[in-house]
Order: sequence, then structure tokens, then C-alpha cells
Amino acid sequence: MWRVIKDDLEFQLQERWIHYNNEQQRERYRKYDATRRSRNFVQNWKFEFEWVYYDTKLKVMTCTTCIKYGTEEDKKSRFVSGNTNFKRLALVRHQRSQVHRRCETRRIADLGLCIPAAADGATTA
Ligand SMILES: [Zn+2]
Repeated sequence: MWRVIKDDLEFQLQERWIHYNNEQQRERYRKYDATRRSRNFVQNWKFEFEWVYYDTKLKVMTCTTCIKYGTEEDKKSRFVSGNTNFKRLALVRHQRSQVHRRCETRRIADLGLCIPAAADGATTA
């Protein structure tokens, strides 16, 4: 039991450390973003990343999956508040992120409810 608690603590510390590092990285990106020339949203990204939504008024990209299926914690993602980092890599990274994967799992589970249950190896006759 203690082992479990210890592992859990270590995990939490690790998470916090990753979060802290991410914050630092984001801050660097923000500064970098402010100085370089502005990029724009590439329309083709909509086909490549079916979850991406580009708000033409606010000029931000968001993730429809994370907005719909994210928990309060997941919604801290920049793809929920609105991302202005118009780089393909930002989308690739989001797609691979744990947050997005969690939301994607919930989305698929949600879709699963609408599909008639498969036979699952059982005889249907
Ligand atoms: Zn997402």
C-alpha cells in the first residue's frame, strides 16, 4: 500500500515538473511568437487534423474534441482557449498529447454508444 502511495507521489511530482517545464517552454514560445512574423492558418490542416477548428474572427485554432470531451483540467490546453501558434508542429503535438488522446478516447466511447453492439464472437443465429 505504501508503495502505491509513494509511486503516486512520485508521479504527481513528475507531472508537476513536466507542467513547470511546459510553462517555461510556452513562455519562450510566446516571446518568440511576438517577435517573428505572423503565420496564418493553413486550410489544409482541416483535412489533416479533423478536430481542428479555425475561428476566422478571433483568428485562433481550437480543438473541437477537447472542447467537447475535456475535463476542467484538460481545458487548460491552448487548443481549448485558442491557439495562435500557426505551425503544423503545434497541431501534431496536440494530437499526440495525453490530453487530446484522453478526449479522443471519450469521443470514440461516446460514438460507440450510437453504434449497435457488435456480435463480439457470439453467435447471432
Ligand atoms: Zn484536442
